[in-house]
Amino acid sequence: LSLERLKRLEVHKDDTCAVVGAGTITGELQRAAAACGLFYPPDPGSVHISTIGGNIACNAGGMRCVKYGVTSDYVLGLTVVLADGRILTLGGSTRKRASGYRLTQLFVGSEGTLGIVCEATLRLDPLPRNAKTAMVGYLTVDDAARAVSQLMASGYLPSAIELLDRRTLELVSDRLPDEFRASLEAVLIVEADGNEAEQVGEELQEMVERLAGADVKVARTDSDSESLWDARRQIGRAVTKRRHSSLSEDIAVPLSQVAAMIGYIHEVSQQLEVEVIVFGHIGDGNLHPVFVFDHSQRAAVSAAAARIFRKALALGGTVSAEHGLGALKRDFALAEHGADSLSLMRAIKDDFDPTGILNPHKVFPEGPAEDGFLSRQPGWTSEIETG
Ligand SMILES: Cc1cc2nc3c(=O)[nH]c(=O)nc-3n(C[C@H](O)[C@H](O)[C@H](O)COP(=O)(O)OP(=O)(O)OC[C@H]3O[C@@H](n4cnc5c(N)ncnc54)[C@H](O)[C@@H]3O)c2cc1C
Repeated sequence: LSLERLKRLEVHKDDTCAVVGAGTITGELQRAAAACGLFYPPDPGSVHISTIGGNIACNAGGMRCVKYGVTSDYVLGLTVVLADGRILTLGGSTRKRASGYRLTQLFVGSEGTLGIVCEATLRLDPLPRNAKTAMVGYLTVDDAARAVSQLMASGYLPSAIELLDRRTLELVSDRLPDEFRASLEAVLIVEADGNEAEQVGEELQEMVERLAGADVKVARTDSDSESLWDARRQIGRAVTKRRHSSLSEDIAVPLSQVAAMIGYIHEVSQQLEVEVIVFGHIGDGNLHPVFVFDHSQRAAVSAAAARIFRKALALGGTVSAEHGLGALKRDFALAEHGADSLSLMRAIKDDFDPTGILNPHKVFPEGPAEDGFLSRQPGWTSEIETG
């Protein structure tokens, strides 16, 4: 294994796969695949800075996962270095494999706690030739959430469907169509893709009708589509401009519970007087509540996040849809998985890494999942300059 191999990027067109070093930037793989008419769908918002190794470690998702699935759906094979220095070569370039335990998948989402991913063989799909976008506005966030659940239950599968709540809309209001009313409480950005432009356009139109919003804008050209997506893309920058600290979370709940989850987040935000903006991959039930705060509000932010995590679990969801538990959310692993599953995970960890040298202090709880859980994070309670 060499440094060069960590940057390896080979598209094997005839096998519809790519062999990629763990240090390859995800966006570079997407571009290399597209140049061959192929498609690597996982698209975390960090696509231009995150690596394939990091994506595999966290089982990254993104906007297209609603139709195309997450990173684990594309990992056919891995080369992994174990804690004792052994090098494992797992899987390969066949699209199917039903032989033995799925060790390849065990490493996906293990957050670097079982081994270091060095190289991956990733499935590539045909690149859809056309995509069309629309924006749909709602007078209540409940209407938006229910419309998505009904759409997905009625035989439609958008290639992306994203939610922006009222607070998010305030941040990116200059990117919304002029004709949209100011009183909207939520906006959906929805995309259909496929090969035939006309068919894609018809499908998007049907979806928009079913979504039944108060305001609608259907992009006519690629540049219209770009400007609709711009509202979504500008959120991160708009949050950063606020000159406050922010904490971005990634819960998911079953589709039927999204409205209840968003309602609860807004309730907690009001009760604890913490600003929380909500957007996310609503088609997966995956919401990104982002806490925007100054450091006098740290205790309230910790309590709000803990309550939101507990509610997500109570609604049958997860505390992490795509970022992983890391050190920040490790204390909620017991509540999510239960003691038996967690002790099996611990046994696997101990077997792969008996001396605990691989990403210690991640994934496994180190304290109770209580309101003050964030105070156990290094640096959280010390005085930090905001900015
Ligand atoms: C602006 C922004 C937008 C984002 N949007 C999304 C999104 O839409 N969807 C999403 O899923 N995530 C998103 N993320 C989160 C993050 O970018 C992803 O989780 C990404 O997969 C992490 O990859 P990375 O290369 O940055 O990994 P890092 O952050 O460097 O590492 C993440 C974890 O993986 C481990 N790791 C890294 N490389 C390896 C390896 N080779 N072998 C074993 N373990 C390894 C690290 O130790 C660490 O625990 C976003 C982040 C930002 C900053």
